[in-house]
Amino acid sequence: MGEAPPAPAGRRAMCGACLRPARVCLCAFFPPAGPVDTPRGTRVVILQHPLEAKKTLGTARYVAHVLRRAAVVKGRRLRRASAEPGSAAADVFRALDEGTLWVLFPGPGAAPMCERARESDGASEQVQKGLTLLLFDGTWREGKQMFNSLFEDGRDGAAFRRCPLVYLSPACLQRPLADAGRLRVEPAPGCVSTLEAVAEALFHVEGGGAAASRVRAALVGVYDALVNFQVDSGAPHMGVRREKDAGRDLGKQGV
Ligand SMILES: [Zn+2]
Repeated sequence: MGEAPPAPAGRRAMCGACLRPARVCLCAFFPPAGPVDTPRGTRVVILQHPLEAKKTLGTARYVAHVLRRAAVVKGRRLRRASAEPGSAAADVFRALDEGTLWVLFPGPGAAPMCERARESDGASEQVQKGLTLLLFDGTWREGKQMFNSLFEDGRDGAAFRRCPLVYLSPACLQRPLADAGRLRVEPAPGCVSTLEAVAEALFHVEGGGAAASRVRAALVGVYDALVNFQVDSGAPHMGVRREKDAGRDLGKQGV
């Protein structure tokens, strides 16, 4: 458990580690010894739209509590010129230059993640170097804007076009959608939260073995804990949000 700072009178106590109210602290659901390494060392970078960052039910913020090589970059676009050395944004451009970047988005010509991972498994030089997986966090529309912005710069745009583009098809998901997020109203098949999208996508690029399954289970476990807190609190549940925001999580299967 993270340490909760003392609550001023009239304010509810907050957990200083997961930044949630202490009574719905998620820390017990994060790996006990801290964020873990994946078997193949895949790096996960989530470009998060500034409007998404304000949403309390967003799940992207918890990914880095589970995975050591994961980061959220806030912004509407990624630019090489504004990527600070050593930052997660810089990691994306390094992977782009090395040919080890995969982009998760159901854009034109995208291949199902499970198929693409199977094809390049084992001997692939890309996989051996350790891949970087880029996802987008936002509504469908925001995701599409962030995805399209990759191609605005001529030189980098051409390089981004050469990156494998993958998406999560229903066949890529390890658990049936009916079970995944039992509160949710799915706007379209294959829709998952950002936490689940990372879990399901990593499972495939990490080879789908026992160690990959453990990493996936750790991520999904945090999502399930969030859903359970929502149920227990009687708060407006995720399904309501999703109905209002139809289409949003189509983006989450990559966006
Ligand atoms: Zn906490």
